[in-house]
Amino acid sequence: MTAVILALGGNLGDREANIRSAVESLKGHKAISKVKLSPLVESYAVTLDGIDESKPKFLNAVISLETSLSAKELLAFAQQIETAQGRVRLMRWDSRTLDIDIITFGSTLKATKNLTLPHPRAYERAFVLVPWMLLDPEAVLPGHGSVAKLAADLRDQVVVIE
Ligand code: ADP
Ligand code: MG
Repeated sequence: MTAVILALGGNLGDREANIRSAVESLKGHKAISKVKLSPLVESYAVTLDGIDESKPKFLNAVISLETSLSAKELLAFAQQIETAQGRVRLMRWDSRTLDIDIITFGSTLKATKNLTLPHPRAYERAFVLVPWMLLDPEAVLPGHGSVAKLAADLRDQVVVIE
C-alpha cells in the first residue's frame, strides 16, 4: 500500500458538493482505503498573470489515502472522476468544476510527460499547503521539507471554511 496526498479544487458549480462527491468516489474504489478529507479553504483564482478577482473563487481541499494502485492508475481514476463531474479540459489554469492533482505518491520521485511527482508547484500553493498542514501537522513535502513551515508564510492567501 502506498500513502498518497491528493489536492482537489474547483471554482464552478456546487464546489463543495463536487469535492464531497469525489471523496465518495475514492472511498468506493476497492483498491483505495483510509480516505481522509482536510478542512476546505477558499481563495482567489490565480492565472499565469497572477490573482484574478473577476473569476469565481476556488474551493480547495487535500485528501490523504492509501492505495495498491500504481501512480499512473490513480491518475487515470482521478481524471475519470473529474470527467464524471463535468470537467471539460479546455486549457490549463482555466476555471473548472473539479481538478484533482497527485501531490505525493509515497516517496516516489518522477518526471514524465504525464506525471510529475511530487507535484512541481505544490510547494508554493497556499491552497494545497494550508489544508495539508491542517490535516497532518507533521507532513513533509519531499524536496521542500515541513509542510507546516511552508504553509506559515502563505497562510493569509486562503480562508479556512471549516
Ligand atoms: P492543471 O492541473 O495544471 O491545471 P490539468 O489538470 O489539465 O492542468 O493537468 C494537466 C496534465 O498534468 C494532466 O493531463 C496530467 O497528465 C499532468 N500531470 C503531471 N503531473 C501531475 C500530477 N502530479 N498530478 C496530476 N496531474 C499531473
Ligand atoms: Mg490537474
